[in-house]
Amino acid sequence: MNFRQCTSCAKIWQNQEEFLADPDVSLLGLQVCFDDLLEGLIMFNHSCKTTFSIEVSQFENLYAGPVYEERATGSEQCPGYCLNEKELKPCPAKCACAFVRVILQKIKHFPKQRRR
Ligand SMILES: [Zn+2]
Repeated sequence: MNFRQCTSCAKIWQNQEEFLADPDVSLLGLQVCFDDLLEGLIMFNHSCKTTFSIEVSQFENLYAGPVYEERATGSEQCPGYCLNEKELKPCPAKCACAFVRVILQKIKHFPKQRRR
């Protein structure tokens, strides 16, 4: 099974690594799903000018650290990044949402293949 197909130009990525290493794919943002963080949507842009999203659960393997049980959203230690879809910064709070932002960083800094 393919990892993903572009909804517009039909480009196919066979696996996660190929997708993340593609220089034509760029990370746009995150729609946090507070009810189930793994169902949050990570938004990407393809070079054909299409935007599409992939569930956080598809990238769960990129995170190996601890996951906090409680959410700090709205508390004093929460910088509120989850409320801004365009915000990609890692979160310093001990919050259940923080691991998603670690995944975002991994995606953002994934080594890109050189263009042919
Ligand atoms: Zn495309």
